[in-house]
Amino acid sequence: MSLPVSSSRAVVKAVRGLPVVDFVVIGGGITGLSAAFFLRRYVRKNGKEPKIVVLEGSKRLGGWIHSVRTEEGAVHELGPRTLRPAGCAGQTTINLACALGLYHEHKVVAVRRDHPSAKNRFIYANGKLHKLPNSLLSLIRKQEPFSKPLLSYAWNEFFVPKSPLEDESVYDFSHRRFGKEVTEYMVDAMCRGIYAGDARELSVRSCFPLLHKYEQQHGGIIKGGYQATQVRPEKDSFLAHDDLMQKEHREKWSVWTLKGGLQTLVEKLEWRLGIDRVVINTGETCSHLEFVDEEESEGGKKVAIVTAGGKKWQADHVVSCIPSHNLGQLMEEEHDQFAEILKSIKSVTVATVNLEYEGSVLTEEGFGYLVPSNQTSNVLGVVFDSCALPQLNRTGKGKTTRLTCMMGGAWFHDLFGDPQNVDSDHLLSIAKEAVRDHLGITATPVYSAVNIQRDCIPNYKVGHHKVLDDLDDYVREQSLPLTLLGSSYRGVSVNDCIYEAMKAVWRMRSS
Ligand SMILES: Cc1cc2nc3c(=O)[nH]c(=O)nc-3n(C[C@H](O)[C@H](O)[C@H](O)COP(=O)(O)OP(=O)(O)OC[C@H]3O[C@@H](n4cnc5c(N)ncnc54)[C@H](O)[C@@H]3O)c2cc1C
Repeated sequence: MSLPVSSSRAVVKAVRGLPVVDFVVIGGGITGLSAAFFLRRYVRKNGKEPKIVVLEGSKRLGGWIHSVRTEEGAVHELGPRTLRPAGCAGQTTINLACALGLYHEHKVVAVRRDHPSAKNRFIYANGKLHKLPNSLLSLIRKQEPFSKPLLSYAWNEFFVPKSPLEDESVYDFSHRRFGKEVTEYMVDAMCRGIYAGDARELSVRSCFPLLHKYEQQHGGIIKGGYQATQVRPEKDSFLAHDDLMQKEHREKWSVWTLKGGLQTLVEKLEWRLGIDRVVINTGETCSHLEFVDEEESEGGKKVAIVTAGGKKWQADHVVSCIPSHNLGQLMEEEHDQFAEILKSIKSVTVATVNLEYEGSVLTEEGFGYLVPSNQTSNVLGVVFDSCALPQLNRTGKGKTTRLTCMMGGAWFHDLFGDPQNVDSDHLLSIAKEAVRDHLGITATPVYSAVNIQRDCIPNYKVGHHKVLDDLDDYVREQSLPLTLLGSSYRGVSVNDCIYEAMKAVWRMRSS
């Protein structure tokens, strides 16, 4: 789609006297920090290292990555807690950790695929926990809550033709290929676990691009999945450190994190960027972004004028690493229709309740459980943090159990009302009730923390790919020196954020 040029398009000449930099990176979450890292590493301006400024609105870096370290030495994650090593995106994060020296400093904590937390994942349905199949035997046996062995659903999937639709909801896609039970108990729960979102609204093409590709290219998920195991993944990595990747391969990791939590990755990036003379300004919310014709430029080259914290910068290029909605607000004066499209990508609010108990209070070992949306419960699921990562428990005082209860997501308003007015004690009591009813835990936690994370996970709705096309078209047609990165666009995982940042910088390097 081609959008009309806004009538208020800035045509003024670039302002003299402003500090001039090569890149302004807006946002100091994991996307912004890794984008700055890759820019510093791979891009040269006239043969020299580029001048880069990172502008972060809040006082701390990391965005949704937020590891709270208690005085007793326990780590409670408010946002992401583990990273998957699989695929190009997974490998890029591993390489980044290696390049930052985290491997050689023995900071990496991995969970192997044979660990109970990797093998045991549960769903809560019809009043009890059910272990999801994790072996061939469990696929051929009928297991509650399913009325048939799961292998029979997989067998039927072979014969389902591919859809002629460009995109459809995750629910419709899964229902068509696997039927109602798999969709409502497993796929719906998975959407709540990853996106805190509703499978009936999320786009299969944008939220699970591999599944969509397997159907379109190979005619089915099982067929596509099998073909994928036959192809060795390309070494699609632009960093030269692969010691950690080899270790991951040898040890067969399921997921990994860092000592001190994922905040350690943020701290290490901040340290590295400081050494590399990248200017990082925290507490400077960007309030306006406009693009103006550069003085003395004949080809109509544009530069950006960025306003933040009462200061202005002139930049050759802006890398936006803030939520699309926030960027829309910065650009709405001059680029109103573009801003509207940016704002159309919505995110959901999630409340996390971190709980810590004396001793081992879990009767089952595993990663945690999810609650499908067809069950009566106010929680999305509970992660058994201490089971997967006992290394992040408090030090030296015997065993403890750490859990995180997730709530809300696409159902936040219906269940709890306006996030601004929700009482934290109410959410804490819901979390305690859930672990009592679902896990039989009646003990009083020795630590608890409630956090309401507003608009924290983008939910890509059906047709999201067209939204991305419209945004790309506008940037290209208007020749804006602007790159859109971050979880609003092409993947919400930390791995996706880092990988997309690296690919974008790589393209700038060769352009
Ligand atoms: C509860 C939860 C659990 C999760 N679990 C996992 C997990 O286990 N594994 C996984 O891979 N992913 C997980 N994720 C997803 C992942 O954490 C996020 O998608 C990712 O961290 C987003 O990073 P980002 O840098 O793109 O955006 P953000 O983290 O949102 O960072 C954007 C930054 O921009 C700043 N900013 C915004 N507006 C402005 C402005 N106008 N001017 C200046 N700065 C501004 C913000 O303050 C923020 O620091 C989870 C997310 C949540 C919320």
